[in-house]
Amino acid sequence: MIIYEHGTLITVDAQRRVVKDGALAVQDSTFVAVDKTQTLRNRFPSEPRVDLQGRIVTPGLVNTHVHLAQAMIRGCADDLELIDWLGKRVWVLQGNYTEEDGRASAELCILEMLKSGTTAFVESMLAGRYGFDGIAEVVLRSGIRAALSKIVMDVGTYATKDSWMHPGMIEDRETTLRDTLAMYDRWNGAGDGRLFVWFGPRTPGGVTPGLYREVTKLAHERHMGVTVHLAEVQSDRKYLQEKFAQTPAEFAEDVGLVGPNVLLVHTVWMDQHDIQILSRTRTNVAHNPVSNAKLASGIAPIPEMLAAGVNVALGTDGGPSNNAYDMVRDMRWTSYIHKARTLDPTVMPAEAVLEMATINGAKAMGLDSRIGSLEVGKRADFVVFDLDKPHVTPVVDPVSTLVCAATGADVDTVVIDGRMVVEHGQVLTLDEGRILREARERATDLWSRAAIEHQPRWPTL
Ligand SMILES: [Zn+2]
Repeated sequence: MIIYEHGTLITVDAQRRVVKDGALAVQDSTFVAVDKTQTLRNRFPSEPRVDLQGRIVTPGLVNTHVHLAQAMIRGCADDLELIDWLGKRVWVLQGNYTEEDGRASAELCILEMLKSGTTAFVESMLAGRYGFDGIAEVVLRSGIRAALSKIVMDVGTYATKDSWMHPGMIEDRETTLRDTLAMYDRWNGAGDGRLFVWFGPRTPGGVTPGLYREVTKLAHERHMGVTVHLAEVQSDRKYLQEKFAQTPAEFAEDVGLVGPNVLLVHTVWMDQHDIQILSRTRTNVAHNPVSNAKLASGIAPIPEMLAAGVNVALGTDGGPSNNAYDMVRDMRWTSYIHKARTLDPTVMPAEAVLEMATINGAKAMGLDSRIGSLEVGKRADFVVFDLDKPHVTPVVDPVSTLVCAATGADVDTVVIDGRMVVEHGQVLTLDEGRILREARERATDLWSRAAIEHQPRWPTL
């Protein structure tokens, strides 16, 4: 057992207690006590201790929308229309990935996430060419917790009009279904229950209703999660209206893409009727406000969803759309952008945003009985923030300081499943120097293989 003591604990437990001079007792992978330091000193007088020196401690952050393969193409497509963003840059680069590129990008992405306090994430759509096995091995080695969703698609012509979609990104129905189930059999539950395998079908347009129904049926039989991008841009809503005469949530319900095991991503273009369907079916939402703003997709009606009782979690999205995987920075954005949209400074307070980044994320992964808060019996996933710095001084309210002033660079220590994976800002499980070097080299190689050249707008000498 180890006692972490003298921290300010933002527990996000059922009472939402904040414990000043608090302590966490961790036995193996689990919290066995969460209380005042003095109480735990009396109870466990001779156990080894770690002094947190008054630092702020939160549950591990849960990033519910990640594209691992996009970390290595960070910054490849700024200030572009979505069609050009995908067709001229993102898909062309991704369509040239090798399995070694996929593994290297996953290492870069997980390194960044661990250093900025993310302890669990959902990868949304792994293509076959990224090499699922190599990526699963990185997850296990790094110590992070993850749901890896494997791509499923059956419309070969999806977005191939005007050659948007790179041929390297196209897979067929049988291969994608068979590979997803094979990866589930091989990896689901690995790492003492840290790794899950989900279905990651493409967006409507790339998948027929029949295949969605098959996927959701298979997912129910195996208790698998399903995540899918829905109503990200206005034309997604128009497409469903014109092709099926349905709103996005009506379509999702019709093909089985609703329920506690389903995580819908973006859901920007939803009306009150859609929101009621999500609420009634207990469907989870991954909100990605930075990505939606950068790509000019719009602002999702999140305060309305929360008011209707929808479980909304937070996600960063990927390297070309965010362009970082820093959940702490994105918490501030989440709080502020909805105030600006609604002209109401009381919406999306820091507490609601931290819930989205922790316990709501855990619920969206189906793991809220195991992670998402600092509570006895849960897995010991937590983050220690060092706030002995000017930009976070003074601390009037620790929740506000964390959400509105801190960044992921303020993370000092990260513990997952009781195991320390980041200590004083250094990742203990991955070789940071080698990963950065390899990512730079592979990125250069990838751009030249894809025959894309970055044209800076300013004269560069
Ligand atoms: Zn995405």
